[in-house]
Amino acid sequence: MSYKQTNLWNVDNWKGEQPLPPEVKEAGLCIKNGETVAFPTETVYGLGANALSDAAVDKIYQAKGRPGDNPLIVHIGKKEQWNDLCSSIPSMAETLAEAFWPGPLTLVVPRSSTVSDKVTAGLSTVGVRMPDHIVARALINTAGVPVAAPSANRSGRPSPTKAEHVHYDLNGRIAGILQGGEAGYGLESTVVDCTGGQAVILRPGGVTLEQITEVLGDDLVFQKEHSEKREAPKAPGMKYRHYAPSSPLVLMEGDMHGRLIEEKKQGSKVGVMAVEENKPAYQHEADVFISLGSRHDLREIASRLYDSLRTADQSQVDMIFCETFPETEIGAAIMNRLRKAASSS
Ligand code: AMP
Ligand code: MG
Repeated sequence: MSYKQTNLWNVDNWKGEQPLPPEVKEAGLCIKNGETVAFPTETVYGLGANALSDAAVDKIYQAKGRPGDNPLIVHIGKKEQWNDLCSSIPSMAETLAEAFWPGPLTLVVPRSSTVSDKVTAGLSTVGVRMPDHIVARALINTAGVPVAAPSANRSGRPSPTKAEHVHYDLNGRIAGILQGGEAGYGLESTVVDCTGGQAVILRPGGVTLEQITEVLGDDLVFQKEHSEKREAPKAPGMKYRHYAPSSPLVLMEGDMHGRLIEEKKQGSKVGVMAVEENKPAYQHEADVFISLGSRHDLREIASRLYDSLRTADQSQVDMIFCETFPETEIGAAIMNRLRKAASSS
C-alpha cells in the first residue's frame, strides 16, 4: 500500500473545546471512508481504521507489515459502543471498565459478528479499550465507527511515542497522521482476558497488576509468566519479536560491567541506556550514553523507553546495553518490553 502523500494534521494545541478542529473532522472522515490514520493516545500513537471493515483493517496489516495472526485492539469513543462489539460482557469486565476506563486497559471479551475477522485474527474474542485522550476519542466519535488500532510503527520496531516516530516509520504507507503531542504513558495498554473465571493479565502495561488486584481481589487475578514462546490461542501476537532496535540489545542483569569492557576491547561501538544517576559509572566505556531519567521515577522511564531505543538505533552503535528494573508496578511493563526487545527470535 503506498500513498503519494501522507496528510499531516496538527492539533497539538487543542484541549477539547468546541468547535471540533477541522483537522479532526478530516481525519475522522478518512477513517469513515476506509482509510488508515495514525493518532495520539495516552499509551502510544495508534494506527486506526474502521474495525467493522475487512478492507480497511487489511490496510493496517499492510502498512505495518504485521503478521495476520496478531489480533488488533478495538478503540471506542463512548462506553456504550462496546455493546455492539461483544456477544456478552462478563461482570468482571464491566467492573474493570468502570474502574479504569477511559484508560490504558484492554479487556478481552467474547466477540460479536459485527467485528471484522481481520481484527480478531480468527479468535472468538475481541480486545476493546476506551483511550484516555481527548484527540483519540474525538477522532473515533467523528468517524462514527469503532477503530481498530495497533501501535503506529513498522512491525517489530519500537512503538511510536511522538508523531515524528510515526512519520519516520510509515510516511507514504498510510493516509494521514493526526499530530497531538507526546503520548503520556509511553507503553502500550495492559491486556486482560476476561473470558474465564479469573482476570488473566496477558500483557502488562499502564494499569498495573497491583491496581487490578485492588479492584478485583487476589483470587480473581492471574498474571501469565514470561511464557510468550508457549503462548498460542489467547494472544498470538505475543510470540513475535517486538519493540526492537536494529542493533542487538543486551540487558544488564547482574554485573555486566565486565562484558561491557570486553566488548570495548574488541573494538565495538557501545551504547548504554541507564538511569541518570548511573551516568558517571558508564561514562568511560559508553560511546553513547542515553539517560532514561531518574531511578526514582519509573513512570518517566516508561515514557522515555521507546524514544530512547530509537535514539540508540540512530547512533549506530554495534551493541546497546540497558539497565534493568524491579518488576513491580509499571516496572513489570518496562521489563516485559525490554525482554522482548532483547530477544533474538
Ligand atoms: P498492539 O496493537 O501492537 O498493541 O498489540 C495488540 C496486542 O493485544 C496483541 O498482540 C495481543 O497480544 C493483544 N490482543 C488483542 N486482541 C486480543 C484478543 N482478542 N485476545 C487476546 N489478545 C488480544
Ligand atoms: Mg505494537
